[in-house]
Amino acid sequence: MKKIINNYINGSKVSVSSKTLPVEDPSTGEIVAEVVLSSKDDFNKAIESSKNSQNEWSNTTPLKRSRVLSNYKNLIEKNIDELAEIVSIEHGKTFADAKGSVTRGLEVVEFACGIPHLLKGEFSQNVGTNIDSWSVRQPLGICAGITPFNFPAMVPMWMYPIAIACGNAFILKPSEKDPSCSLRLAELFSEAGLPDGVFNVINGDKNIVQLILDSEEISSVSFVGSTPVAKYIYEQSAKNGKRVQALGGAKNHLVIMPDANLDQAVDGVIGAGYGSAGERCMAVSVAVAVGNIADELVNKIQIAAQKLKVAPWTDQDSDMGPVISKDHKEKIENYISIGVKEGAKLIEDGRNYKIQGYENGYFVGPTLFDYVSKDMTIYKEEIFGPVVSVIRAQNYEEALKLVNDHKYGNGTSIYTSDGEISRHFTTHSNIGMVGVNVPIPVPMAFHSFGGWKQSIFGDHAVHGMEGVHFYTRLKTITSRWPKSIKAGPEFKMPTN
Ligand code: NAD
Repeated sequence: MKKIINNYINGSKVSVSSKTLPVEDPSTGEIVAEVVLSSKDDFNKAIESSKNSQNEWSNTTPLKRSRVLSNYKNLIEKNIDELAEIVSIEHGKTFADAKGSVTRGLEVVEFACGIPHLLKGEFSQNVGTNIDSWSVRQPLGICAGITPFNFPAMVPMWMYPIAIACGNAFILKPSEKDPSCSLRLAELFSEAGLPDGVFNVINGDKNIVQLILDSEEISSVSFVGSTPVAKYIYEQSAKNGKRVQALGGAKNHLVIMPDANLDQAVDGVIGAGYGSAGERCMAVSVAVAVGNIADELVNKIQIAAQKLKVAPWTDQDSDMGPVISKDHKEKIENYISIGVKEGAKLIEDGRNYKIQGYENGYFVGPTLFDYVSKDMTIYKEEIFGPVVSVIRAQNYEEALKLVNDHKYGNGTSIYTSDGEISRHFTTHSNIGMVGVNVPIPVPMAFHSFGGWKQSIFGDHAVHGMEGVHFYTRLKTITSRWPKSIKAGPEFKMPTN
């Protein structure tokens, strides 16, 4: 009998709905489980359980909340191999990469352990004569998160540890393509001492998303996924009066200056372009070759790409695994065909990639295009696969303009040995996360993660202090004690 992936509601794995959707192992194409497509009854149960638990949880002292998070951190560390394996089976990424991604999520839990300090407000004595004023940050109530397939542990962990540390209840709707890890993370949180109902996981597709958007009980929505859906989530949430942060797709440029250390830059392109089969929102999908280095750069990337081992996660030497699904493989291969048709030079072709023993797996080989231009579809759109486009720029100004003119603004990086150029780039690039001589400038948990332009809708990035601010609202209190009050009303604005 197939494994059924239920919801996690009020501390138990349950579901009312009997409708399911298959979950595959992308390395083999086999169905490994069925995930529940939750109904409105399931959703109502999640809401009820969140409502019943949130008040008491928000009245639990931040220090006690922090101790639960600290237990949780220990449990994640203890079970990290199991969590990584769950990610690898349903997503396909290599075990080492999966473990790294769980670790990046764990770092958010570590950050959230400092919640008593992070929630400290501001205090002013004598804002008026004998009047004091202070501010506190209070939880929103019930917060929801909707997450993508590409980081089934890390992206949910960008959200719920901070929301919960702040005193909220959290309902997570993970990707239906790889939902198991969220359930295991929820179980471990219960084991760590989190009261039932503070963290619920509800499985399903866009129907559940719609219930989240329409619910009057949910105060905020955190979304990570593709840009069209992010925009929809942002608009609907705003219309329904919810606080919203919606992170979308990307097309990240890595600019390589003629004075760069070329071997380091090639390593950067290879790791960030093909790691996780290019299914990262911070993947490098465009290498901008500046000046006369292009031929040598392309040649070196090609040689390195040919050496990559494409294999299932069970092979310890694998550099990259399959992409998530048959549909996605076809979509990527179609983009490659479009690139050829529109005149880009195909240097490495990853279409029809077959691995012996895994013929039904969704593998796409490392693909490299040269002479890509900015009017081409493969340059304009996010492919989300192992496809790197080299675009040639005559000088730095032209390279910067490419970065700034693109509709996406998640991440970018420059490889150079010139401090002045580097400073100009970090100051003037129209992008949320910028690197210098690092390929993937992903901020740590104590900073905040978020792009610009079509890569984000909403005002707050995720985790770090942006996360604490997103999941709390500011209250400012002004107080005076009776003995200091002179008799009689005042009709003018106080000016003391
Ligand atoms: P997706 O947009 O298809 O799905 C994301 C979530 O939205 C899933 O939970 C899914 O069930 C739900 N969903 C899908 N279609 C919907 C619809 N029409 N209405 C309502 N909900 C819907 O994204 P994906 O394919 O799972 O993930 C890949 C995308 O996520 C890429 O575009 C990638 O760049 C992006 N991403 C962005 C970041 C970031 O930080 N900016 C991080 C990771 C992934």
